[in-house]
Amino acid sequence: MRKKRGHADDTKLVDAGRPPASAAYPVNPPVTRASTILFDTYKDFQEGARNIVYGRFGTDTHRALEAAVTDLEGGVRTHLTPSGLSAVTASILAFVKAGDHVLISDGVYDPTRGFCERFLKRFGVTPDYYDPQIGAAIADKITPATKAIVAESPSSLTFEVQDLPAIAAAARKADVKLIVDNTWGAGYFLKPIALGAHVSLQAGTKYLVGHSDALIGAITCADEVCAEAVTQSLRQLGSSVSADDAALALRGLRTLSVRLKRHEQTGLALAEWLAARPEVSRVLHPARPGAPGHDIWRRDFTGASGLFSIVLAPVPEVALEAFFNAMTLFGMGFSWGGYESLAIPSRPGKWRTATVWADPGPVVRIHAGLEDPGDLIEDLDQAFAAMAARQ
Ligand SMILES: *Cc1c(COP(=O)(O)O)cnc(C)c1O
Repeated sequence: MRKKRGHADDTKLVDAGRPPASAAYPVNPPVTRASTILFDTYKDFQEGARNIVYGRFGTDTHRALEAAVTDLEGGVRTHLTPSGLSAVTASILAFVKAGDHVLISDGVYDPTRGFCERFLKRFGVTPDYYDPQIGAAIADKITPATKAIVAESPSSLTFEVQDLPAIAAAARKADVKLIVDNTWGAGYFLKPIALGAHVSLQAGTKYLVGHSDALIGAITCADEVCAEAVTQSLRQLGSSVSADDAALALRGLRTLSVRLKRHEQTGLALAEWLAARPEVSRVLHPARPGAPGHDIWRRDFTGASGLFSIVLAPVPEVALEAFFNAMTLFGMGFSWGGYESLAIPSRPGKWRTATVWADPGPVVRIHAGLEDPGDLIEDLDQAFAAMAARQ
C-alpha cells in the first residue's frame, strides 16, 4: 500500500506524482512519448472525461509532474508549458480581451514586458506599470477595464519584494486576476496562492529542472474557473511539452529542497562577503536587512534562493570587462537555477517606466551555484583584483 501523503513540503517533493501501486512497480513514472493515443473501442473513443487524449495535452509523465507542482504550490490544477515565458504569456492571455487593461510590475522579467509592449498592445490590451513596492495602493491603479495584475516577487534583476496579500486583497475586491511569477521562490519558499493569488507560475527551467538542460513552465491555478481559462488559452495556442522535458523537471523536483537550501546558504555567504567590498555600493538580496521589501520577505517567504544582484560603484567599461573575463567559476549566461554559478552584467534602468533607477554603477546579477563557497569567494576576489588593475 502507498503511504498516506505527508503534509510537509519536503515529503510532498518525494511523494507527489509517483506511479500508483501495483504488485511490482517503478519508483518513477515511465517517460511516455506520444502524439497519437489509441482508444480500444468505439465507446472508449467517444467517452468524454479522459485524462489522456492526445500527445499535445500530455501523457501520464506530464500528469505526474503536474500533480507534484500542484501539491507544492497548493493549487487545484497545474498546466505545463514549453517555457517559463510561455507560462507568463498564456496566463495573461487566459484573462484578457481587446479593450482591457493589465497592471504589470515595473521590476518584471524583461521579456514579460516585451510581450505586453510588442504583442498585447497590438490586440488592444493596454499594459500599465506599477512600482513593485506599491502594496495596497495598487487599488488606485485599478480601473473598470483592469482584468489582470502581473506581479513577480522578488523583481528580476533588482529583487524588490512585493506585498502580495495587500495586492491580492485589492485585486479580489475589484474582480481582477492576480498572476504571480514565482520562479525565484520555486513554489517552495513562497506560496502565492495561500496569499490570495489566482495564478502562481514558474519558469521550471530554473530550479525545478535545476541542471540547465531543459526549458519548461508551470502554471498553477487557485480555482477551477481560472484553471479552465488557462486550459482554453493553451489549447488555442497549440502549446505542448515534451515528455522527456517533463521527466527531467520531475527528476529535478525530487531534490529541489536540498538544492535550494544549499543555493540559499551560498548566496547569503557571497552576499555577506560582497557587502563588505569597497567596489560594491549595494547588495540587492531580499534576505538581507535593508533590502527593498526585506520585512515582507521575512513575513511571506520561508527562505531565499541563490539569485541576487550587486550594484557596483561606477567603473570604466574596460574594468568591468576585466572583472567578468577574470572569473573562472562564474559562467556568463542567461537563465539560472542550475548547479553552476553564474554572473551577468545588467542595466535595470533601461526598461523602467513607473520607477526611477538612480544607481549610477552597473548591476551584476549573481547565481550562487553548488560549488564550494570558499572557492567562489576566491574567484570573486581575484576578479576584483583584475578589475582594479584596469582602473
Ligand atoms: C527565466 C524566467 C522566465 C522565463 O523562463 P524561460 O523558461 O527562459 O522562458 C520567466 N520569469 C522569470 C522570473 C524568469 O527568471
